[in-house]
Amino acid sequence: MYFYSNRDKSRTSKFNLRDAAFLGLAPDGGLFMPEYYPQVDMKRVEELAEISFADMASYLACTIFGDDVNPEEIDAIVRDAFNFEVPLVEIGKGVKVLELFHGPTFAFKDFGGRFMGRMLGLLNKGGDPIIVLTATSGDTGSAVAHGFWKVPGVKVIVLYPKGKVSDFQEAQMTTLGENIFPLAVNGTFDDCQALVKASFNNKDLRSRVKITSANSINILRWIPQSFYYFWGYCQWKRQGGVGDPDIVVPSGNYGNITAGMLAWKMGMPMNRFIAGSNANDIVPAFLESGSYNPKPSVQTVANAMDVGAPSNFERLLYLFDDDYSKIILNVKGYSYSDAEIKDAIKEIYDNCHYLSDPHSAVGYLSYKAADASGFYLSTAHPSKFASVINNSIGFNPELPVEFKKILNLKRTFGQLNNSEEELEKYIEKI
Ligand SMILES: *Cc1c(COP(=O)(O)O)cnc(C)c1O
Repeated sequence: MYFYSNRDKSRTSKFNLRDAAFLGLAPDGGLFMPEYYPQVDMKRVEELAEISFADMASYLACTIFGDDVNPEEIDAIVRDAFNFEVPLVEIGKGVKVLELFHGPTFAFKDFGGRFMGRMLGLLNKGGDPIIVLTATSGDTGSAVAHGFWKVPGVKVIVLYPKGKVSDFQEAQMTTLGENIFPLAVNGTFDDCQALVKASFNNKDLRSRVKITSANSINILRWIPQSFYYFWGYCQWKRQGGVGDPDIVVPSGNYGNITAGMLAWKMGMPMNRFIAGSNANDIVPAFLESGSYNPKPSVQTVANAMDVGAPSNFERLLYLFDDDYSKIILNVKGYSYSDAEIKDAIKEIYDNCHYLSDPHSAVGYLSYKAADASGFYLSTAHPSKFASVINNSIGFNPELPVEFKKILNLKRTFGQLNNSEEELEKYIEKI
């Protein structure tokens, strides 16, 4: 399987899995897409889903990566990466939620992070040690750090703005140790990103040290997110779902929902995809008008979706052959204000006795608005957003024991001024 940039319409530059994974972004600035959509046998997928998520995911991963990686190694990676439950829960009549937050960082990004960490370690085996350099405002950093934790031959440097991530997010990044090197930067998230960018542009440094990124657009993070759509479909069928499901996805950068569209292209039946957004309504507005107008993001209570220029938008276009009429036939979009999101958290609690984090509440609202029949994805555990929940229902969610444990562990991190030279020295030292 080769990968091409979505912008390379005449397919002049092909990349193998390893190159596409280490590059992240294509050299022309586009996003990597598989050269074709491998077709799955849905009967086989349903049979394997009867056994376990890992059995099903192993088949899917081999269907995509089996030409490039030994299927036994893929199987081992999948079993190690996806070692947590993925339940489809009915919270009210006809309302089902696929809970994607049972991994170690309590958000769906664990699927991509854990798969990528292990695959990159394997693809780099026998090569020089590699440094993954990533900047985070909180969530991505912890998923990446956990995803690469203890992967041989890989060290991870996570830059985060000092004092600007939540207590829990900091605990998640700074209590792992081993090959994870968190750096508290005297600056903002933008400064962290600029520092990472400067290192990538530093040819001299790159000639001495092998560095790569773990961007959310990386195919090794993007593709495995398609697996849980197949799973959700199988569980939904098994629970008596009739016809093809509507699938509702709380969205920010549109990596998650476009991975669902990849599943559909590979043979998973669905009726409609429904994108839910917060006040950053760029894609719902595009679906409404046909014109794409990215703009600066605004801060909301569902902050992991505060994106004004979704980085996977081009994948969305590509998956529908750049044809707006095909897109609106298959995709709907809704957007919600903070007040509506907070009201929904209360409504879900009052009516369904179910605690929802603000992102998933956007899923719930969109599901209702679309009069959907299927399920919505829950992207984070409610305890990660305790203060928003407190604000909506008047008390804090009970923290799971794993949460409390992490908060009490010893934290270790480096400190960095907003300085390219300091970062360069640090990279060479570790
Ligand atoms: C990252 C994230 C999202 C948005 O996912 P995209 O793939 O960027 O659309 C939604 N909810 C939570 C909790 C997230 O962490």
